Amino acid sequence: MADKELEQKLIVGSKIKIGEKYSAWNGFRQGEIITLVQGEFEYENGLYTEAQCAPSIWCEDRSEFDSIYHLFGNDLEEFQDCEVVFVPPMADKGSFQFPMHRPVSENDWPEDFKHDNGNYNNTCLRCEAKFVGHKRRVLCKVCDNPQLTGE
Ligand SMILES: [Zn+2]
Repeated sequence: MADKELEQKLIVGSKIKIGEKYSAWNGFRQGEIITLVQGEFEYENGLYTEAQCAPSIWCEDRSEFDSIYHLFGNDLEEFQDCEVVFVPPMADKGSFQFPMHRPVSENDWPEDFKHDNGNYNNTCLRCEAKFVGHKRRVLCKVCDNPQLTGE
């Protein structure tokens, strides 16, 4: 089993600082910061070639991607004294995801999205605009804001 907590941090856009122990036998410089990019790999499974993606670094020498599992082991057990120094913000929010069907509009309640039942497609009782927010909301964000509507 891979270290799930660590695995969640090792995503595209994360920055990793190479530790002393790790650098000693992996050809990186101690203190070097590497940034993970989306790597594409082809796997031969005997029947067909399958393309897969994994967070990776680009290896100049060999002109190919090195995935985190190649760098740190299948269970990330070789991460050792390396340090994750930056994780893109979306990774912190667990299940939080913006609705993908359309961009956030001014009628939406983005602060609701992270809650259970916070991603409902609602229709505003007042202006009939479609908005995304908690399922119990009846007004869109525009109509709920007195400053904007002059109430
Ligand atoms: Zn409205």
